[in-house]
Amino acid sequence: MNPFLELGIRHEVVNAITEMGFETPSPIQEKAIPVLLTGNDDFVGLAQTGTGKTAAFGLPLLELIDFTQKHPQALILCPTRELCLQISKDVEKFTKYLDNVNVVAVYGGANISDQLRQIRRGVQIVVATPGRMLDIINRKAIDFTKVQYVVLDEADEMLNMGFQEDINNILSETPDTKKTWLFSATMPREVRRIAQKYMTNPVELTVGTKNAGNANIEHQYYLIRAKDKYAAFKRIVDFYPEIFGIVFCRTKIETQEIAEALVKDGYNADSLHGDLSQQQRDKVMKRYRERNLQLLIATDVAARGIDVNDVTHVINFSLPDEVENYTHRSGRTARAGKTGISLSLVNVKEQSKIRHIEKIIGKSFERKQVPQGPEVCEKQLLAMIDKVNKVEVNQEQISPFLPAIMENMEHLSKEEIITRFASLEFNRFLEYYRNAPDLNMEAREGRNEERGERRDRSSSKGYTRLFMNLGSVDEFSRGEMLGFICNTAKISGKSIGKIDLKGVFTFFEVEDAEVENIFNNFKDVDFNGRQVRIEVSGDGRSEGRGGRSRGGDRNNRGGDRRERRSGSGSRDRKDSGGFRDFSGKRQYSKSRY
Ligand code: AMP
Repeated sequence: MNPFLELGIRHEVVNAITEMGFETPSPIQEKAIPVLLTGNDDFVGLAQTGTGKTAAFGLPLLELIDFTQKHPQALILCPTRELCLQISKDVEKFTKYLDNVNVVAVYGGANISDQLRQIRRGVQIVVATPGRMLDIINRKAIDFTKVQYVVLDEADEMLNMGFQEDINNILSETPDTKKTWLFSATMPREVRRIAQKYMTNPVELTVGTKNAGNANIEHQYYLIRAKDKYAAFKRIVDFYPEIFGIVFCRTKIETQEIAEALVKDGYNADSLHGDLSQQQRDKVMKRYRERNLQLLIATDVAARGIDVNDVTHVINFSLPDEVENYTHRSGRTARAGKTGISLSLVNVKEQSKIRHIEKIIGKSFERKQVPQGPEVCEKQLLAMIDKVNKVEVNQEQISPFLPAIMENMEHLSKEEIITRFASLEFNRFLEYYRNAPDLNMEAREGRNEERGERRDRSSSKGYTRLFMNLGSVDEFSRGEMLGFICNTAKISGKSIGKIDLKGVFTFFEVEDAEVENIFNNFKDVDFNGRQVRIEVSGDGRSEGRGGRSRGGDRNNRGGDRRERRSGSGSRDRKDSGGFRDFSGKRQYSKSRY
């Protein structure tokens, strides 16, 4: 038997939610539905957004309401217009196979006459934001004297947004006999007070731990210097090519500055803050929802109630002042049983804030290292290869061009073609990240201490850590790499320390005395047609805001960043056309040793 039927939900509704993909009740639904279906109790549910709260209260309401009557019987209050629309749409979907159900969404920023007209026609369920609801009450346009159930959804957010008094006024219009169901992600004192004031012996349920975040969220932080924050942020974004994130800043100005800098640097980003008109806000949200935006840069208030599924990362560009806000922010990811990452960029002074948040949410943060340039390049390359594998080929459209393409490529082997196609896009990343500095705190401090000495602190004493642009994809084992280095530089294996063989690059340590030897002997060395590049690890230039734009068309704000990256503007072509003339250089291939 369908588990929702077992919980006591009628067939028609179960059919509708099955079509929506609900197969088994979520934990909050499983716990709350039996309690709420009795209609006898006040209720407090502590649950994060994205846990299935809407159905947890929506489904029982549909069993308790008398749809032959046309007066308001249930009032659902929520903090934002987005949430209001989401709830009313969900409830309408649940009632697809029920007759005579009338739901109205009442929220600010939209035409009030339409809402009044719907109310006059007769509604049983009102979903509302507090401000507009009060406006309608003050116009004496609605009768709440027969309301039996009031739902306060995301109560903590409503209080955060200063709706306390509006809620008091609205509730005073409803009869004392009504039942109140309160849902909140957190339980600060103010919410507790509301529960005490309006409820009698409420049944209290918690999904997850009190005040703790969703278990599917990984909390991470990066320790960096304040001045490297933007560069580190971009580096992290580049390290996650499929990122679909919300970036939190503390001020409106900061959101605008960051969004502008990102667009300039070729990213697909826009800002969301309190100064936008409703229309502008809707436009930004539409683009984000439709994934035409990859990064949404928002303030806490503006991001309240954002209910986009599949957000992969919440990025705390600046930590919030209140821990409560951290919970709200991170709750924007890992919705509907998915996993997500909430990451914070902090400097040394802010580390204590992380410890404080850890204590309150009862979760520990993992310290992550800002990826090095070569690691980012590797990630991007693999993502690109994945895209090539998955690309949909429009046979009909491309076939007229195939004979000419084939003719043009005839002289190239399969390997050469693959290498060239990969390089077309990849060269830009390689170029951008060439000599990219280590942005982690210790490395930066280390370089300062050593007064510009070309040495990374993380290398063993007496050794220098070097980078080489060959790795396991070039079919090296560690031993073979050791052989290659020693043969080429004509030094003994004893002079080589740790070898860290990665995919497309390698870090290796060499005795300080031999560093020069390595540089001299690796000059002009090619390996399978690729110039071998050796650098001191962590050495390099700054990659600040002035960093070179990797997008094709800076003005194309609406376009997709990834598409723009693969565009073929003149700059792109220049970047990718660098196939060297290898003559006159020492050439290596693996078979040589
Ligand atoms: P909510 O917390 O109500 O905003 O729900 C978050 C998301 O989970 C929405 O997209 C719902 O449609 C979905 N959802 C809620 N309950 C279930 C369920 N039992 N099975 C599958 N998806 C669900």
